[in-house]
Amino acid sequence: MIKVDLHSHSTVSDGLMTPRELVRHAAAQGVQVLALTDHDDVAGIGEARDEAAQAGITLIAGTEISVTWRNRTLHIVGLRIDPEYPVLQQGLARIRESRFTRAQRIADELSKVGILGSLEGAQQHTTEGIISRTHFARFLIAHGHAKDLKAVFKRYLVKGKPGYVQHTWASLEEALTWILGAGGIPVIAHPGRYDLGKTLTGDLLSEFKQLGGVGVEVVCGSHHPDQYGQYAQLAQQFGLRASRGSDYHGPGHSYMDMGRLPDLPSQCEPVWRDWEEVLNLAA
Ligand code: AMP
Ligand code: MN
Ligand code: MN
Ligand code: MN
Repeated sequence: MIKVDLHSHSTVSDGLMTPRELVRHAAAQGVQVLALTDHDDVAGIGEARDEAAQAGITLIAGTEISVTWRNRTLHIVGLRIDPEYPVLQQGLARIRESRFTRAQRIADELSKVGILGSLEGAQQHTTEGIISRTHFARFLIAHGHAKDLKAVFKRYLVKGKPGYVQHTWASLEEALTWILGAGGIPVIAHPGRYDLGKTLTGDLLSEFKQLGGVGVEVVCGSHHPDQYGQYAQLAQQFGLRASRGSDYHGPGHSYMDMGRLPDLPSQCEPVWRDWEEVLNLAA
């Protein structure tokens, strides 16, 4: 099977590598088709595309949109988007702005437990792109409040812990409208991470499908191998295609390196099945 990785992050969002470095790393790991899917941003795509042409790999333009659905945060990946599509760009810009006010609220919450200067501290870990909890996490680690990301997301920044704030992202319908309008393919990112239970998972998959959703990540960096079969089965049941992505954020910051994911289970219909740029590789 062709080595396809349809979920990754650069310094434009919360990854550790620039788009250029990320593409080079993917190529070195044997990835043939890479999607750059920065959170709520498409600013890295030009650079990534440029480097992919040099490195001889196929770059898929993507983004990972933060969504609030029934009071929970979900991530919807858009693949093969036109990053210039104004409605998508405006929508993402709105989310990025709201990330900034959220960051100020996170910093206020952290100051209540005596952790001062976290907004400026987190900003030191960002580049020109978004500010996320990952940047706060890196600040907290650098200041000795936790030893690694896993420890941070147990003790801080999550519900019931210091630094947690409620936030409303885009609606599911908005995210799908923007992605579809940009000519892209909407995919539910890492469904196994949402802890939805059977009924809500069914509700999500059918609502997503009804709004024009196309795929579900089946094999991904945050799924346990047991979950591959489970989501393959659900995708089939709801008439959705399957995707595969590492969710790579950089060395030491990801569950899985690029190029290490197993193939999709055989019953899956890959999201990339009829993509011209992939068919050309297979030919
Ligand atoms: P945000 O979109 O600002 O809420 O930040 C979410 C990001 O935090 C995710 O995209 C992950 O990169 C990171 N993250 C969340 N939970 C964890 C975790 N348990 N371990 C490592 N990274 C995490
Ligand atoms: Mn992330
Ligand atoms: Mn995600
Ligand atoms: Mn991601």
